[in-house]
Amino acid sequence: MTKILVVADIKQGVLKGSTSELLSKAKALGAETAVVAVGSNIESLTADLANAGSDTQYIADDASLELFSAGPFTSCVVDAAKQFEANLIWFGFSETGKAVAPRVAAQLKAACATEITDITIDGDNVEVTRPTTANKLIQRIKVNASQLVAVVRAGAFEATEGITGAENAVKLSIPETDLKAIIKEIIAEAGDDIDLADANIVVSVGRGAKDQAGIDLVKELATDLEAGFGSSRALIDAGLMPHAKQVGQTGKIVAPTLYFAIGISGAIQHLAGMNGSKVIVAVNKDSEAPIFNVADYGIVGDLFEVVPILREEIKKIKG
Ligand SMILES: Cc1cc2nc3c(=O)[nH]c(=O)nc-3n(C[C@H](O)[C@H](O)[C@H](O)COP(=O)(O)OP(=O)(O)OC[C@H]3O[C@@H](n4cnc5c(N)ncnc54)[C@H](O)[C@@H]3O)c2cc1C
Repeated sequence: MTKILVVADIKQGVLKGSTSELLSKAKALGAETAVVAVGSNIESLTADLANAGSDTQYIADDASLELFSAGPFTSCVVDAAKQFEANLIWFGFSETGKAVAPRVAAQLKAACATEITDITIDGDNVEVTRPTTANKLIQRIKVNASQLVAVVRAGAFEATEGITGAENAVKLSIPETDLKAIIKEIIAEAGDDIDLADANIVVSVGRGAKDQAGIDLVKELATDLEAGFGSSRALIDAGLMPHAKQVGQTGKIVAPTLYFAIGISGAIQHLAGMNGSKVIVAVNKDSEAPIFNVADYGIVGDLFEVVPILREEIKKIKG
């Protein structure tokens, strides 16, 4: 039976939704499942990890693992993969996943595929699907290796109701601190913004908003909807939005239930970061803007007129 090890995505002690999405897919493929969790004060998550669909939980819990450091994190995942004899090791689409996956693959001498959107297993044959060339092409790759490390794209799999696992915790030994790179402090972005990666709704603003007043107007819509607030690169390059908010090929990849593109033309590099969204709403004054090619709902109009109307209507629905 195929054995799939999922690397738990834990941020500040909270288990992220991507972990149960990956475990649900692993169960749907009929695999034996395990999860590896690395951090400080995380042992209490064992039951949640089992309920998310894992049959074994490899736990590395130590104060030295509180701040992410690629070296020790990699050692823990490699240790769990060896103990479990995993065929597939899956990471969610997080900064941690992107940093650790190639290191794990190198240490295990395994194949590595990033940004995968699907995976099929037929006996010993494993095939992964991933977008390439800024989403213009879809690659299907047959894996010719006994082990594959894969980073799964945000929103590729859905968590399934009623998935069960079994509580079977295995303590991992704690690796030495990585002396090559010691993380002293992580400075979180100020503010109480909703994390783009976790947001169910994302409202993104583009150059059409012109200036700070326009950006603030669109941000109010995001606040009304309790949505993550993103941006096209144009406003980042203009110094009006921080890079952490950039959606696209060289920014964050998001796949929310609902995505608003406001004053965004729909350049291919932007689409690469959001066209996995379930429903896309675009507001643009140019009816020929390419964003309308991917939008489920398009509003041709001036955002300075449309956004206040949207806010009014949302208030009515909420109230
Ligand atoms: C290597 C590379 C990587 C890149 N990576 C990214 C990336 O990760 N993310 C990204 O976003 N871009 C990326 N880009 C840049 C990308 O090519 C575009 O330049 C950028 O997305 C354009 O941003 P925009 O749509 O906000 O601006 P524009 O293309 O200038 O579009 C502004 C839109 O606003 C509309 N508009 C203007 N006024 C109004 C109004 N009052 N009301 C309504 N609509 C209005 C216009 O009709 C227009 O369609 C990358 C480019 C390169 C070369």
